[in-house]
Amino acid sequence: MNTRLWHPFSDMAAVDGNEFVVDRAEGVWVYDEEGRRYLDGCASLWYANAGHGRQEIVQAAMTQMSKLEAYSCFADIANRPALELADRLAALAPVDDARIFFGSGGADAIDTAVKMARGYWQARGEHQRVHVVSRETGYHGTHGYGTSITGIPPNREGWGVLAGENTVAPLHDLDGVEKVFAEVGPERIAAFVVEPVTGAGGVHLPTEGYIEGIAELCRRHGVLLIIDAVIAGFGRLGRWFGIERFGVRPDMITFAKGVTSGYLPLGGVVVSGEVAAPWWTTPGERTLRHGPTYSGHPTCCAAGLATLDVYERENLIPRGEELETPLFEALAPLLQHPYVHEVRAGFGLLAAVELEQDVLDGVPDAPNALLRGARKAGVLVRGLGKGVAVSPPLTVTTDELGLLAEAIRAGLDSLPVDAPVPAAP
Ligand code: PMP
Repeated sequence: MNTRLWHPFSDMAAVDGNEFVVDRAEGVWVYDEEGRRYLDGCASLWYANAGHGRQEIVQAAMTQMSKLEAYSCFADIANRPALELADRLAALAPVDDARIFFGSGGADAIDTAVKMARGYWQARGEHQRVHVVSRETGYHGTHGYGTSITGIPPNREGWGVLAGENTVAPLHDLDGVEKVFAEVGPERIAAFVVEPVTGAGGVHLPTEGYIEGIAELCRRHGVLLIIDAVIAGFGRLGRWFGIERFGVRPDMITFAKGVTSGYLPLGGVVVSGEVAAPWWTTPGERTLRHGPTYSGHPTCCAAGLATLDVYERENLIPRGEELETPLFEALAPLLQHPYVHEVRAGFGLLAAVELEQDVLDGVPDAPNALLRGARKAGVLVRGLGKGVAVSPPLTVTTDELGLLAEAIRAGLDSLPVDAPVPAAP
């Protein structure tokens, strides 16, 4: 053993002692300890939307930290950054009469949202409404509920019995979702949790009418709609929360990542007035017995406020939509590469390049081999089950998108594929 640091989602027996140690970052560029420079093609883990090294965010955090580094928000205690950030997010969110509940990241947000949905129905006397529907390829963090409702089978396996009362619905097929509702019994469903574009599960773009269709289905059956905007939010789809592109107003939205651009850990849930009502109408009636220690952490919220300032001042949020066609155009030629099965791009500043099955079968850990090949060519991308994902900072230029595609091509060319694979049609 050479390393004491246990990396998330990693084959530690292979990683041990072979780490890629990043040292500093500026804008869209990341530097390793030898001073080599890489284009951050994945905004770290889909979060550095404002780019790295923003001194105004650093300064805001430092100023807050020297004044009041941290204090609990339990019971009646508050701090100014948490109050202000909640006001700003509530004003931006496409949720009726919004309230904001903070945690430290996306998984906190998901577990909070699912508990709130279930608690809402218990408080309303619909005690049978405990079931949660999610969808294939959905990723919702690695806490209890996030693990139980994910639509990525390997992430659910190997833990024994998970939290029950949930069903994974089809990715694209609205009739299939309706069938799931009918099988479970819509009167037993508390909530439907859905990413507008699935991220870690492979960057699957929504098919025409799907998101609008499930929103209508939820409304028809009184099921709460929870939009997981942890990746989709803060410009990734060209809007504040992403879901605005579908004209849908959900009951709850989970967010994290881009809210601070990752400068400090923060996440939360936007909750509608209706869902909040059981806990927020009559004093003495009911207390939400749920809350992580760092809910409303003042330094993290100060970083959030400064990050929103950057997005607004530089008008960065629309770039997620403005750059979707240039990203598609940069990556589309890769489809001609014999190892590439599919390129999914064209909606938001995120995409996936999926490998042919022969390559996945023939090359050990092909997605990571491709990632390392692209890294050798100077671009950082993220490994997926069957390929790689890209999601650069919103500040990326069209030329840099070209570099990104070239490096993925170099990575593809470097794959140790023995037998020639058939060319793509
Ligand atoms: N939901 C989605 C859609 C995510 O992509 C992620 C993280 N990649 C999460 C939830 C969990 O967030 P965190 O890792 O901050 O707990």
